[in-house]
Amino acid sequence: MTYRRLILILGDQLDHRAAVLDGLDPARDAIVMTEAREEASYLPQHKKRLVLFFAAMRHFAAELRGRGLTVHYHALDGEAPAATLAEGAARHATESLHVTQPGDWRVLAGLRARFPGLVVHDDRHFLSTPAEFEQLAAGRRRFVMEDFYRAMRRRTGWLMEGDAPAGGRWNLDAENRKPFGREGPGLVPPRPTAEPDAITREVMRMIEREFPGAPGSTAGFAEPVTRADALAHLRDFIDHRLPGFGDHQDAIATGQRTLWHSRLSVALNLKLLDSREVCAAAIEAWADGRAPLNAVEGFVRQILGWREFVRGIYWTRMPAYARLNALGAEADLPGFFWTARTDMACLADGLGAVLEEGYAHHIQRLMVMGLFAMLWGAHPLRVHDWHMALYLDAVDWVSLPNVLGMSQHGDGGIVGTKPYAASGAYISRMSDCCRGCRYDPRDATGPRACPFTTLYWDFLARHEGRFRRNRRMTMQMANLGRKNGAELAAIRAAADSLRARLG
Ligand SMILES: Cc1cc2nc3c(=O)[nH]c(=O)nc-3n(C[C@H](O)[C@H](O)[C@H](O)COP(=O)(O)OP(=O)(O)OC[C@H]3O[C@@H](n4cnc5c(N)ncnc54)[C@H](O)[C@@H]3O)c2cc1C
Ligand code: SF4
Repeated sequence: MTYRRLILILGDQLDHRAAVLDGLDPARDAIVMTEAREEASYLPQHKKRLVLFFAAMRHFAAELRGRGLTVHYHALDGEAPAATLAEGAARHATESLHVTQPGDWRVLAGLRARFPGLVVHDDRHFLSTPAEFEQLAAGRRRFVMEDFYRAMRRRTGWLMEGDAPAGGRWNLDAENRKPFGREGPGLVPPRPTAEPDAITREVMRMIEREFPGAPGSTAGFAEPVTRADALAHLRDFIDHRLPGFGDHQDAIATGQRTLWHSRLSVALNLKLLDSREVCAAAIEAWADGRAPLNAVEGFVRQILGWREFVRGIYWTRMPAYARLNALGAEADLPGFFWTARTDMACLADGLGAVLEEGYAHHIQRLMVMGLFAMLWGAHPLRVHDWHMALYLDAVDWVSLPNVLGMSQHGDGGIVGTKPYAASGAYISRMSDCCRGCRYDPRDATGPRACPFTTLYWDFLARHEGRFRRNRRMTMQMANLGRKNGAELAAIRAAADSLRARLG
């Protein structure tokens, strides 16, 4: 039969309230979902990431069928597999093909090229649209996250008292940078796990069979793959970890994967959770006195501010954004990014988390792995590919601006006004990693020189001309200026031999 409407649903669009599903007529319309081998293998992908997407899709398809809708599901190992998303859609005759705006410019461009009449619906999951973002940014020389965030606070009325921010300040970040101290983080509430059901176990077997060479393992997969599971994770976070979310947001503790982070990015990015309900639950906890303002403001800022801001950057600047490489970084990532086999304790811990769970918390992403990659001079797109391959929550719209922009400064200052450059001293202050490491974060040269510290000074020296023009780098450049020629030459030699040893 020829459908009136065929709705293409992608793996990160598992939202029962999506606009694309409005007004569906089960007698005349149908849905198509495809486990496309191309999407699973255009980069080598972590096995848990593949399980996550396919298991969540299969559960969602079952729920749609439960609503009486017709779903054509092309399973990768089924009777009618389709190698690409377009091939899956093209199998079914329709008067019009509809899709929610995909989270990847490449996918949208590919679908548009193949189906010129494609109807693209706004993604209602998000709190702002790219057009609104453009309007807010219009006429400003610089448009930073804080400008956008305040506008969004005013628009939503969240954490507002009339025209003023609740508590008198817009941003309580200064209260959220405490290290743990020698006693460590203490007892952290454990993260709940979602036991794989029969559908998920079947997908786990399929991934081991079909992608034996993919990185990581399916063993221990415990991510929520249904809305019900995701809601249980949200409740657990609000009740147990949100109260501690603020204070130590920037701290790292060896072996502690979750700390007080929410670990909701996966469920949010697959659209199993809605950002409104997530923020509303946090704000309610503050209003009821169950969580302090610094925790709740910090959490809301990540979603209403950062998450929406990077999406605005992505959709208003692609595809040119992906080609930016302001620092001219050309190197490959060192091989240990794929194995976690390194004697740098901070990297071994962070990379170990990524390879085992497909997750590391924000400060490890930014100030350990991201920092090392930037100081190393890795090409921003290779760092982005590494993220897309291994992180469960990586989707192009969110990964690219965070990696290329925030962490690698490849956009020259669009997402963040200065590079997040630091030496081993920062990691030493914010974590316990250096205590168990063979290197000394204070040393830039010599037998115990910390690679972060060596590469940090070398990085500043290599980009001196550029960074001297950035007012926010004044202090760092003044410190560089105190180093004499002999010191700088020794640092350069140490950096060169490090590159030869680790490259
Ligand atoms: C180099 C780098 C790469 C990143 N790649 C991704 C990615 O692929 N996917 C992704 O969702 N986030 C990414 N982030 C942002 C952030 O690190 C993750 O959202 C966060 O660590 C997810 O863990 P969580 O749910 O425990 O977050 P929490 O610390 O609990 O924060 C709450 C929520 O805020 C949102 N959030 C926080 N910071 C950001 C941000 N900078 N951009 C967008 N959303 C944010 C997330 O939805 C997150 O779930 C990246 C950050 C960096 C520095
Ligand atoms: S000494 Fe350097 S390499 Fe070792 S844990 Fe500290 S920052 Fe990392």
